[in-house]
Amino acid sequence: CGIVGYVGARQAPPIIIDGLKKLEYRGYDSAGIATQNGKGIEVLRAEGKLVNLERLLTSNPVSGSCGIGHTRWATHGRPSVANAHPHRADGIVVVHNGIIENYLDLRDRLIEKGHSFSSDTDTEVISHLVEDFYRESGDFLSAVRKTLTEVRGAYAVAVLCEQEPGKMVAARSGSPLVIGQGQEEFFVASDVPAILKHTREMIFLEDGELAWFAGNTMTLMDLAGNPVTRLPKTITWNP
Ligand code: GLU
Repeated sequence: CGIVGYVGARQAPPIIIDGLKKLEYRGYDSAGIATQNGKGIEVLRAEGKLVNLERLLTSNPVSGSCGIGHTRWATHGRPSVANAHPHRADGIVVVHNGIIENYLDLRDRLIEKGHSFSSDTDTEVISHLVEDFYRESGDFLSAVRKTLTEVRGAYAVAVLCEQEPGKMVAARSGSPLVIGQGQEEFFVASDVPAILKHTREMIFLEDGELAWFAGNTMTLMDLAGNPVTRLPKTITWNP
């Protein structure tokens, strides 16, 4: 339902929680956050309101200048901590809005290959498929690209990889995703208000497009890896 991501030099958790709050009006049943701090990726998830996730964060603080967060509106799998996003498969961590229509086929195939699933969501096939390709090639970006050519349905996703600190992939097809361009920092969100207090320079991804964040650079491309050029739009309205 709601996605917020951050890559830059600041601490990601407060930026992500604040952004998710701005998307609260859309409704959700659970929330979660993942941060990458170079030592690994930490994932925290809670059922119910964001305040439950904030409480968890108080007793169990996470840090990192790269992170992703999600508020979930369940479509596949009941509202629960296990079904809340981010979903993790080894070093790969994913948040997703939308519906993966061929998830049962992909899930069967991955289970046959030895993957074990820990949720009832359609989303979890994304993390496992990326992990499977990443294990083969060691190439995080191409693992996400390959995965997104195999899934059918609607998605906006943001993906982190434990072995690749400071890197993030965001992509969309059928579900909205916007990138906020800051000074040597980038924001990702399912809707503008989530990140508007940080920047007014927004790049609206189109279907089949992907953004690769590495260090303080961003590269836009399609799923085949062909470069895409799109200038940011300046948002002049206030929410
Ligand atoms: N289909 C996914 C799920 O049920 C994502 C739902 C959403 O967009 O929040 O977990």
